[in-house]
Amino acid sequence: MAIDFDTYDDENIFAKILRGELPCTRVREDEHVLAFRDIAPQAPEHVLVIPKGRYIAHDDFHRNASDAEIVAFWRTVAAVCDELGIRDRGHRLIANQGRDGHQVVPHFHVHVLAGHDLGPMLPGSST
Ligand code: 5GP
Repeated sequence: MAIDFDTYDDENIFAKILRGELPCTRVREDEHVLAFRDIAPQAPEHVLVIPKGRYIAHDDFHRNASDAEIVAFWRTVAAVCDELGIRDRGHRLIANQGRDGHQVVPHFHVHVLAGHDLGPMLPGSST
């Protein structure tokens, strides 16, 4: 079934994780943000950072979240990178949005990927 990217779905997997209905391997948490390990890692380090609020994707989050939520979110992304020790070798942040972005879970999240050479930015690209 097609994913609805216009209305927040309270039954999405990350909403269930936030309500404690599904488990996760937590990396970091505060009032506004949860960071946890991806269930199907695509690199040696693969952490997902999500806001606790009901935001579908990055445009919804950055338009509608409070300044406090936005600051807490990005500080958590930075703190996760520190905690994983991935600053010096480098890492990649990805936020998929909507159909063409291949977003699968309609709750805003940033992927933090690291731990080896991540290769070109997109399949077929040279950088
Ligand atoms: P998207 O394609 O929406 O950007 O990425 C969704 C991510 O969520 C995928 O990398 C997928 O492996 C991850 N994921 C899906 N279900 C679960 C789950 O139940 N637990 C965790 N920890 N990650 C999940």
